[in-house]
Amino acid sequence: MNISHHFDDATLMAYAAGTLSQGMALVVACHLHWCPECMKRVKQAEAVGGALLDNINPVAVSDSALDNLLASLDDVPPAAVEKVEAVKPTQSDLPYPLSTYLDKPLDDLPWKWIGYGMYQVDLNFGGKGAARLFKLAPGVSVPHHTHTGNELTLILRGSYSDEIGRFRRGDVADLDSDVLHQPIVDTGEDCICLIATDAPLKFTGIMGRLIQPFVGL
Ligand code: ZN
Ligand code: ZN
Repeated sequence: MNISHHFDDATLMAYAAGTLSQGMALVVACHLHWCPECMKRVKQAEAVGGALLDNINPVAVSDSALDNLLASLDDVPPAAVEKVEAVKPTQSDLPYPLSTYLDKPLDDLPWKWIGYGMYQVDLNFGGKGAARLFKLAPGVSVPHHTHTGNELTLILRGSYSDEIGRFRRGDVADLDSDVLHQPIVDTGEDCICLIATDAPLKFTGIMGRLIQPFVGL
């Protein structure tokens, strides 16, 4: 896989420290499944974290601290353990951590139409933030929006372009509240993405404000 867009170090460090929301950790774990480069950086972050623990006054660290840290670095989300039996061979085009959450191939999921050639499946993680699959038809442009928090996107199929560049299968977009963008599907194939946010999106145009209640992000 030819990956050209990766996560920021801050995101990989947060993943290694286990401080990301469940949805965001899933997006990172899925990219790591495909990206040896980011996996290497996570391993480096782990090593730094371990060295920091070694240098802390021993009485300040509980016996289980390192175990807890290592447990939080697990690439596979805990829910994967329960749902792993549902994985079918047809899921081989998906990164493993995501396939453990889905009991059907991408094309057979209950896609909900949200307008303007956009469909979504909510992964229903609950709590703060959200994770969902987005499907955008060819030629669709997502209304201009900024983010009130962070947004992590992994492209699973197809591609899109926005103000930042071109994103293809395996690429990730790691966006914070400074970014205003308008992704546009740029091939004749649907673009399917896994997206996690830690706060709602803020649409800026009239079109965006109209669909805001339906997107629910
Ligand atoms: Zn990467
Ligand atoms: Zn966005």
